[in-house]
Amino acid sequence: MTRDIKTLSESELSEIFQELGEPKYRAKQLYEWLHNRNASTYDEMTNLPKSLREKLSQEWPLSGICIYDKRVSTDGTRKYIFELDDGVLVEAVGIPAIRDTSDTYTDESAGDNLAGFAERLTVCFSTQAGCQMRCAFCATGKAGFTRNLTSSEIVDQITAVKEDFAKDASESNELRVNNVVAMGQGEPFLNYEELIEALRRINNDPVLGIGARRITVSTCGIIDGVYRFADEPEQYRLAISLHSADQETRNQIMPALANQPLKRLKEALLDYNLQRNRRITLEYMMIDGVNDGQEDLSKLIKFCEGLICHVNLIPMNSVDGTSYKSSTDRHIHNWENSLKDAGIPVSIRYSKGSDIAGACGQLVNSISD
Ligand code: SAH
Repeated sequence: MTRDIKTLSESELSEIFQELGEPKYRAKQLYEWLHNRNASTYDEMTNLPKSLREKLSQEWPLSGICIYDKRVSTDGTRKYIFELDDGVLVEAVGIPAIRDTSDTYTDESAGDNLAGFAERLTVCFSTQAGCQMRCAFCATGKAGFTRNLTSSEIVDQITAVKEDFAKDASESNELRVNNVVAMGQGEPFLNYEELIEALRRINNDPVLGIGARRITVSTCGIIDGVYRFADEPEQYRLAISLHSADQETRNQIMPALANQPLKRLKEALLDYNLQRNRRITLEYMMIDGVNDGQEDLSKLIKFCEGLICHVNLIPMNSVDGTSYKSSTDRHIHNWENSLKDAGIPVSIRYSKGSDIAGACGQLVNSISD
């Protein structure tokens, strides 16, 4: 398979044009179209000669994604189903926040100085179509796995969500994608190379240009991926879907991770802290009667010992085909207080977009009526 032309640098494009006998400035023109103007077809690149556009489209077909379905939540969240070149469907979610409203979706962004940008947007993107992990509480896993996404298919989701929101933004407000989170469909660390290529492009892209600290990757706990991620030079953020610090309970709700034991996961996280000196987010979804007992709390507190971390307690969103249900709000608040008392930074994360099946664990390509 040929490499995706969007992953090439301007100098690599120059080399290709040299081989084709084209002048050097063509590389700059093409690069502009691909990255600053987000062209999705060669036909749009009207300052390139038609013969060159034809040659390029034969040798370097442009991958593209288009909106197949979109649902808008009462809270402003938009869930998109994108169709990829081969007809595969994949989901992303755009979560807008007007300044001065409370955005609990990514606690990391609270307190940032956002003066000058009245509207900001968090984009939750997918790294795979479907998911192999089959966690017992998650709709995505229940629908099975289709394929890995390419880096362009990952970056394009963010651009497409941004453009869709930008259409409706008032002219005086510059719309910024403020945070991106790899919390859509799939397990990012099982598509590691394409993920990293995509993150680098999201970070360096002249238009998106999202700071590494505003890019979060959430993993269910693929240990080898945690070690690799710790070695990346950029300051990306890491979140772990822990959901239980008891091995037996975790095996029950996340069976595919039984071969990634908690003890080794913790070693990897300690290594990550040591290498990066960065706080890790531990996501803990609370399921009534399954992982929310006193013993579970003690084990979570013990797991946090020695880690630079922040715990996100997440009420479970309802998902068809499972009898699991969320712990009560009161119980979740009790845990929050106990964790605080134990000196562990903690917040409760309420998902947005649950009325449009766009919340965590609900991304399963269901089409609107
Ligand atoms: N595979 C990665 C990325 C997916 S992120 C990971 O597991 O981290 C999606 C997040 O939503 C994960 O934390 C996942 O555990 C959580 N989730 C899945 N089902 C959920 C549900 N029903 N309610 C709330 N969160 C859920």
